[in-house]
Order: sequence, then C-alpha cells, then structure tokens
Amino acid sequence: MNSDALVVGAGPTGLTMAVELARRGVDVRVIDAAPAPTAETRALGVQPRTLELFERLGIADAAAAEGVGVTDFKVFSEGKQFLHLDLRGLDSPYPYLLMLQQPRVEALLKASLESLGVTVERPVELVTLRQESDAVEVQLRHGDGSVEHAWTSWLIGCDGAHSTVRHQLGVPFVGAAFEENFAVADVEMDWSLPHNVFHAFLNRGTFVAYFPMPGGLHRLTIAYRPGQTPTGDVTYDELQVAVDRAAPPGARIAKVHYAGRFQIHQRKVARHSVGRVFLAGDAAHVHSVVGGQGMNTGIQDAFNLGWKLAAVVNGHADPRLLDSYAGERAPVAHRLVKGTRRATRMTLLRNPIATVARRHIAPHITPRPGIQRVLRRALTQLDVSYRDGTGGTNDDRLAVGDRFPDTGLLHPTKYTLLVNRAEASCHPDLVDVRHVENGTGLTLVRPDGYIAALDSDAAAVYFETTFGQRKLV
Ligand SMILES: Cc1cc2nc3c(=O)[nH]c(=O)nc-3n(C[C@H](O)[C@H](O)[C@H](O)COP(=O)(O)OP(=O)(O)OC[C@H]3O[C@@H](n4cnc5c(N)ncnc54)[C@H](O)[C@@H]3O)c2cc1C
Repeated sequence: MNSDALVVGAGPTGLTMAVELARRGVDVRVIDAAPAPTAETRALGVQPRTLELFERLGIADAAAAEGVGVTDFKVFSEGKQFLHLDLRGLDSPYPYLLMLQQPRVEALLKASLESLGVTVERPVELVTLRQESDAVEVQLRHGDGSVEHAWTSWLIGCDGAHSTVRHQLGVPFVGAAFEENFAVADVEMDWSLPHNVFHAFLNRGTFVAYFPMPGGLHRLTIAYRPGQTPTGDVTYDELQVAVDRAAPPGARIAKVHYAGRFQIHQRKVARHSVGRVFLAGDAAHVHSVVGGQGMNTGIQDAFNLGWKLAAVVNGHADPRLLDSYAGERAPVAHRLVKGTRRATRMTLLRNPIATVARRHIAPHITPRPGIQRVLRRALTQLDVSYRDGTGGTNDDRLAVGDRFPDTGLLHPTKYTLLVNRAEASCHPDLVDVRHVENGTGLTLVRPDGYIAALDSDAAAVYFETTFGQRKLV
C-alpha cells in the first residue's frame, strides 16, 4: 500500500482535506495535475464559518491580517438602496466577510500542510482508478510522461468541476448550464464610495457587484442575461458601459488588472461516494457565484469528511461513520444550488412590476430583524446545520447537528466534552474534556465544531454507535 489516503487535486478543498488528515497522523499523498497553483483571483470571499474552521488550523489570524474585512453590504435597485446588511452583530468571532484572493487562501493552507511534512506532488495527474474491497488502485501520470501504478486505502476526489475521479466512478453530475453568463474583472475604481463596503447595483436587467479587494482594488462581477453576453475578451469599454448603467454617476474604472468571463453551471453529484472513493468541493457541486459560496463549501466538505476518515484509518471508528459525509453534505449542496439559483434570478429581474416591487416594497421589508437574521446567516454560512437532513436551520435553540457557537472553547482536532462537573473522563486520544463553570450539564462537540450530544445519555449512545465504546463518558 502506498498511502492510507490519496487526495486528488490541491485546490482549496484538497489542501484542507490533506491538512485535516495529516494533522491526525494519517499517511496522505496529495497530487495535482497542474505544474503550479492558480494565479487567478477566482473565489474572493472567505466566510465567517470558514474562518472559524481556519482558527482550528491556526491560520485564521494570518488570513484576517492579509484580507479586507467587509461588514456592510449595500444593494441598490434602479438607484435606490433596498438592502443593507450589517454583519457587525454576528454571533461569531469573525463578524465580517473576509475578502482574500483564492491563491492567498491556498498559500496559507499549503504552508499549513508543509508544516505537517506533506508536499503537494506536481504535475501528477490521476488517469484511472479501480477499486477492490480493501483498496483503490490508481494510475498516475507524472510530468516526465512516466506512469506510476499505486495503491491507496481511500481516495478523495477534490479535482474540481471536470473531475476525473467523478468520471471514473461513473457518477452523474445532475443539473444544467445556467443561462446567465458572467464577466469578472479586478479593477481600480475612481469613485467616491467607501472601499470597505460591498456594493451591488441592479438596473433593469443589468447587475454589477463591487467586492472590495486587498490592495485597494475592486472585483467587478457583471451578470448577463441569456443571449446578451458579449463574445471574445472582456474589454475596458464593456466594463465601463456596465459601470455607467449600474453605478453612481461619474464612477470610472481607472485601471483593469485582470478580466475574464465564465458561464455558470448548476450541478451536483447523484452520490458523494462510491466504496472507498469520495467526491468533495467543485467535483461534487457547482453553482452560481452570487453569494460567493463555492470555495467555502468545498473547504467545509473537507472539514466534514477529514476527521471521520482519520478516525476510521486510525482504527477508532467503524467505516459506517463515513456514510454520514454524504448524509450531511448532500443536503447542504442541494440547498446551495437552489438558493444561489434563486438569488441569481432575482438580481436579473427586468420585468417592470418586479423591479417596482424591488424598489418600493423591498426597502420596507429587508430591514426587518427576522429577514436580516436569515440573510446574514445564509451569507456567512452560520446557518449550515446537520440537525434534520435539510442542510441548514434558522432556529435559535441549539440542537444536535448545529454549529456550536462558542468556537473558542473547542479543541482544534478532537471531540470537546464540555461538562460542569469534575469527574468526567474520556479516551484522551479522541476527546478533550473541558470544565465549564456555568455550563448546562454536558455538551459533546464533534471535531468539526458541530454538536454531537446535549446530555450524558445521548453522548453515551453516540459514542457506542460511532466508536463501539459506551463507556467513553
Ligand atoms: C473564473 C472563476 C471565478 C470564480 N469566482 C468565484 C467567486 O467569486 N466566489 C466563489 O466562491 N467561487 C468562485 N469560483 C469558484 C471557485 O474557484 C471554486 O469553487 C473553488 O476553486 C473550488 O475548489 P476545489 O478545490 O473544489 O476545486 P479547484 O479549485 O478547481 O481545484 C481542483 C484541482 O484539481 C486539479 N486536478 C484536476 N484534475 C486532476 C487530475 N485528474 N489529477 C490531479 N489533479 C487534478 C486541478 O489542477 C486543480 O488544481 C470561481 C471560479 C472561476 C474559474
């Protein structure tokens, strides 16, 4: 056997997966077909939930120091503001959306992985895979053209939207090309609006969003309706025409640093795993960039699967634990594809009745506390929950499967058992016991920060089902 686990693809999902495995002692290889990491901006927003998870890797502060924290989101319809979201009161140590380019996020994850003694092997491409009952055989093509035959106990396909792993498994990628197309550009803006605020302007079917970027730049995202997408390279004039249509008068683009266009597909896999092979990140789901959830969801897929796979490889847990990866993450992917599709449609409304409603009715509805709360939690992914199989919740009362909000109390790699009595003792490799004076009795939190049990009987049952040991608590 060459490795316990082979991670295919070293984008944000694969790097997170590899770190989560390596820091729990799993012998992991990571390969990527590209000779070097991407230099394109790609995803830009790191959400509070992702930063909470980065805290567990010790890279949240470094990420925050490099990026721009955005707390205010202002959206205008035909010149009138109809939505203002303010993240300052968010129940998270990171009450902002961190604008940091994907290559910088990847660099932080890569440094974390290298500090654990694992280096990404490049260019190494997975060509084929074949499963047996206890292992996976792969063919890997190296940069010099040689083909390596290797074996691994588990394989995780984090190889992006065109995933070879998914094709090799024959898993359908269900969905369709979304008819809207986007142009993106990293630009210097000459305007009077504050740099650290997200602005989006909707004007009769034109949608332009301005995301603040490090270095004083803005990421412009322009959405085109079906049949209206310009062809060829994105030009300065094309960008300025969109700015003229949907920004305050006088706003000018001073300099274009990068520009490109892409079409959005809305797809998700019919299955997240087959035997010993798993799919995560863009390999498992792709959707609209409205809401900036793609990279974050891939990273969170990896946090969900990483500790479970490590527990199985290390002989602590039964492989049945791995079934919960699809059980928990498939509904999150489903919710995301549906939600981002609806949001994209809303941004491109041109129908006069709909735009009047957006302009005159929405400003009275969006400030309502209930609406603000739902939108804030969706934008930040604090609403992701595994409590009932729907992928999320907006219920205030904590339940099993919810994110544990007091993230600072949690151990970075193990279960955390929070108890208000002194005598609790647990398997020290798996569980960190913390005494909390004013706790409600007992709370067991999983290594990925979600609640496993809220009383001692439930914790005992959980441990028995997961680890075959009732007496862990
Ligand atoms: C132009 C553009 C703009 C975007 N803008 C945004 C945005 O604003 N917000 C947002 O949230 N998301 C955005 N995205 C999407 C975001 O980049 C992805 O969601 C994110 O990169 C997914 O990470 P991943 O690790 O799952 O996959 P990827 O980043 O695609 O990584 C997959 C890796 O696998 C490697 N690979 C592929 N096949 C093989 C193989 N056979 N063997 C070995 N390695 C292989 C590839 O080289 C690649 O490095 C954008 C994407 C693009 C292209």
